[in-house]
Amino acid sequence: MAIGALGSQIAQAQTAAASINVYSARHYPTDEALYADFTKSTGIKVNRVDSDDAGILSRLSAEGSASPADVILLVDAARLWRAEVQGLFLPVKSKLLEEAIPENLRAKRSDNGGIAWFGLSTRARVIVYDKLKVQKSDVDAYEKLADPKFKGKLCIRSGSHPYNLSLFGAMTEHIGPQQTEVWLKGLVNNMARNPAGGDTDQIKGVASGECAVAVTNTYYLARLMRSTNAADKALIEKVGVVFPNQSSWGTHLNIAGGAIAKNSKNQGNALKFLEYLASASAQNHFANGNNEWPAAKGMSFDNPALKAMSGGNFKSEVLPVSAVGMNQIKVQQMLDRVGFR
Ligand code: FE
Repeated sequence: MAIGALGSQIAQAQTAAASINVYSARHYPTDEALYADFTKSTGIKVNRVDSDDAGILSRLSAEGSASPADVILLVDAARLWRAEVQGLFLPVKSKLLEEAIPENLRAKRSDNGGIAWFGLSTRARVIVYDKLKVQKSDVDAYEKLADPKFKGKLCIRSGSHPYNLSLFGAMTEHIGPQQTEVWLKGLVNNMARNPAGGDTDQIKGVASGECAVAVTNTYYLARLMRSTNAADKALIEKVGVVFPNQSSWGTHLNIAGGAIAKNSKNQGNALKFLEYLASASAQNHFANGNNEWPAAKGMSFDNPALKAMSGGNFKSEVLPVSAVGMNQIKVQQMLDRVGFR
């Protein structure tokens, strides 16, 4: 009896230990299946705290060394970089992750030899246009969005949103800060309306005729393409997609990524989870569940919308995403100067 009670206490303790706390800014309901698969194959329970990226970063800072967080999932290189410099991550050494995730999609190696964060999936930032009013060749490069012929015709979300901070940070790498600021001023001059809403709202702006060109991440587009809703189908019919800069540096790619929390009390299981997210089944889930491209090398996936919009393959830029994240302060200053809200 005593042994049985002890046994069940041990079992309880083991159950309690076999769990990780994941702070996630991935705002995608399809991720539920991703966590369930991990628990099924490892027995490690995933307790998820969902918040937006800013909320997660301030919560981690406030909790300090008492934080129960084990794994942090953030969306966008700009935010991953911000959390890294705030010292919120524990750089890790993982042969598996270093072999799976290309070097340009992860943090630079830190002083202790570890890596602070890893990109786990990618999304492209593309241009959409009104098929009746605009020729594809008029918008096949980001630079062309500043052409005065699009005056009053551009829809784009807030310049300060990390998706745009990263795109503009990449432009800064490609054409230099002076040219980027001139370009940003051109975008402001071409706006059809003050920036408002998310990427889906910009696609809808093109479909409704409020604007003729817009900028969006690919997964929002794929979501509409795969929708069974008649209104979404009608909307997407009106919109053309172009993967910009195929004849120069390639289309801007951004990432969603993960890291181990600086004060994780559960580092072994946290690393298991991060490594699981780079596995073939998890990578396939990113592609099929949330319409992102796998970040890990050599993954095959079957997502008809992603294939249809890109023609199966496209040239993407090869900048280190960490450099793009680093540019965001400079970019924010440019946005303030040119009045890009
Ligand atoms: Fe998003």
